[in-house]
Amino acid sequence: MSIKVPYEVKRNVLLNPGPSTTTDTVKFAQIVPDICPREAEFGGLMKGLREDLVKIVHGDLNEYTSVLFCGSGTINIDVCLNSLLPEGKKVLVINNGAYSTRAVEICEYYGLPHIDLKFPVDQRPDLDLVEKTLRENPDIALVHTTHNETGTGILNPIREIGALAHKYDAVFTVDTTSTYAMRPIDVSKDNIDFCMASAQKGLMAFTGLSFIVGKTAIIKESANYPKRSYYCNLFMQYDFFERTGEMHFTPPVQTIYATIQALKEYWAEGEEAKWARHTRVFNAIHEGLDELGFKDVIKRDEQAGLVVSAIYPDDPNWSFEKVHDYCYERGFTIYPGKISTTNTFRLCALGAIDEGDIRDFFKVFREALDTTGVTVPVMYK
Ligand SMILES: *Cc1c(COP(=O)(O)O)cnc(C)c1O
Repeated sequence: MSIKVPYEVKRNVLLNPGPSTTTDTVKFAQIVPDICPREAEFGGLMKGLREDLVKIVHGDLNEYTSVLFCGSGTINIDVCLNSLLPEGKKVLVINNGAYSTRAVEICEYYGLPHIDLKFPVDQRPDLDLVEKTLRENPDIALVHTTHNETGTGILNPIREIGALAHKYDAVFTVDTTSTYAMRPIDVSKDNIDFCMASAQKGLMAFTGLSFIVGKTAIIKESANYPKRSYYCNLFMQYDFFERTGEMHFTPPVQTIYATIQALKEYWAEGEEAKWARHTRVFNAIHEGLDELGFKDVIKRDEQAGLVVSAIYPDDPNWSFEKVHDYCYERGFTIYPGKISTTNTFRLCALGAIDEGDIRDFFKVFREALDTTGVTVPVMYK
């Protein structure tokens, strides 16, 4: 079924870290005849969708499965941590940013025994310290970290962390929400037991659908672990799907239609070409910022290639709000940072955009600086 686009929707270029700019075909894929999601027709759609989600990260369907949830991306972190920890065991969170801090908070809310192994937000974790912690705490059964810390844009060495987790017999869960379907991932080579994302990020669809891709054998084993949540239990959702082909509770119907269209567009573009496009966008963002004299937070070669975190200039006329509003009125959305100690804003390379959009953005951004009286190149003390 090809999607008809009856009219062009106003195009906004979203440079925030998700939801991302979508194509009109994905937008209009949501406009379907009303359907009860308990119908077999809808179940059939979800089966193909679940397999595609595993294939994107090169998972072997005999070994990996995907489980869908209705919610934003945080639901995945919640589900993985509360469902995959055996009785009497401990979680190790390797924490160098806002999203791993969120995982720590989830552990606190569920009362899960955990170690918050903290590193500075602008640095990669020290792997020797990770190994030492694993060695000294044989009760760690689950290691969790974030692939691309979206608050700063730092890329964490998940393959190495996964290898360490496995060396000490722990399950490795990774928050790949801001890399999945953008930066290529291979669950097996990257030592990933569970990864996760939401439809509105790399897949360029809409909010409401989140999913976990992980090892079927571990999910089955977790049937005997303590049940700490009713709505957010991984085994329960998996098992219901396997037995009935449906989500346990009402799925986000329209978002699922849009995601199926987004997956078609994903395969048509191709993993390599899509990553090359995001990289072009990322490089164009850096070029634009460099030209205006902006500094960024994370070392270039440690950035995940999807988020640039730029530091506010020391110019009395600089106002993020004013610059934001000027750009927003012209169809470009920029986003504040998420680092408590440094004032930053973010420009992200997600979504159905290309380098031409970034060049257009920088014309508007430059005008915003000029009209608000910010000196260019920008000044730092
Ligand atoms: C976007 C994002 C999430 C999910 O955040 P929600 O606000 O729940 O959608 C989780 N982890 C990372 C790394 C993200 O970038």
